[in-house]
Amino acid sequence: MTVVDVEANWPPGPLPWQVPLYERFCRIARGGTVPHAVLLHGAEGLGKTRLAAAWATGLLCKRTPPSPCGDCDSCVLVKGGAHADMRWLRPEDGKRAIGVEAIRAAVVFMQKTPSHGGYKVLIIEPAESMTPAAANALLKTLEEPPGQALLILVSNRVGALLATVRSRCQSSVVSKPGPVEAAHWIAEQAACSDETAAQALDIAAGSPLAALELIIQDRLAGRLALFKLFDQLTAGELRVSEAVPEFAPFDVDVLLETALQSAEGQLRSCSGSDRHHEGFYRRDRLLSLVSAHRQGINFGRETLVTELARILAGRAEEGM
Ligand SMILES: [Zn+2]
Repeated sequence: MTVVDVEANWPPGPLPWQVPLYERFCRIARGGTVPHAVLLHGAEGLGKTRLAAAWATGLLCKRTPPSPCGDCDSCVLVKGGAHADMRWLRPEDGKRAIGVEAIRAAVVFMQKTPSHGGYKVLIIEPAESMTPAAANALLKTLEEPPGQALLILVSNRVGALLATVRSRCQSSVVSKPGPVEAAHWIAEQAACSDETAAQALDIAAGSPLAALELIIQDRLAGRLALFKLFDQLTAGELRVSEAVPEFAPFDVDVLLETALQSAEGQLRSCSGSDRHHEGFYRRDRLLSLVSAHRQGINFGRETLVTELARILAGRAEEGM
């Protein structure tokens, strides 16, 4: 969950770049043609959780549907996580996957008559964390949904979902806002300069919420320092053995993610030059390392970060 969470932004509403999508949904809801299943997807850090919360809360609201009023009985229950007709399914603490048992329980929940006489809403987030068995257990509900039901699948990596799941949902994509619009919003939220906002946005690959988190949690300086270390490694100004101890304060996921961004950035900057091939090679080796890590292969931190540094150093290290 990001720092821009649902409770801190009550009642939930759309972020500026989500307004057209939100309003379209409201029009559909007023017309009584809410789809049974929506696949809400887009890059991480665009506030999809918040949009899903706004849709779901608004649909259940008793006073001002399809926008949430924030303080009717229904809205208060949603805020407290106690609304009998709404369920939010995420991987359990410490786990990465949503298993088949959790989906079976959610299917039973969806089939029960609504306690409040309105909609039943189930949000699955992130949908790609469903195991194949879990996704298959959901298919029947997607094919033959119960009466007034809305299923929202929130996904950061829509390509990782089963095609059979994707094809049974109405697709709603949250696009990245333009850099000027995004930086302006970040600067306003974090009370920082536009320059700082733009720097954070760059590091967060254009995702405004991730950029805002970097600033609010005081992690921007650390990430900038990390980019500098990676640049020095690639330029041969720093040895692998010198770089590895400098990685100590950083989480492995942050190191991998930043290294990949750094490699992508270098690839763009050396486009067309004789270093382009080397850039591709570096990026692909990093992608393999990230993929192995995501699949749960445990190298141990020391081995992983040393390999990471070696990949970035590439030819520079070999020549030393
Ligand atoms: Zn309400």
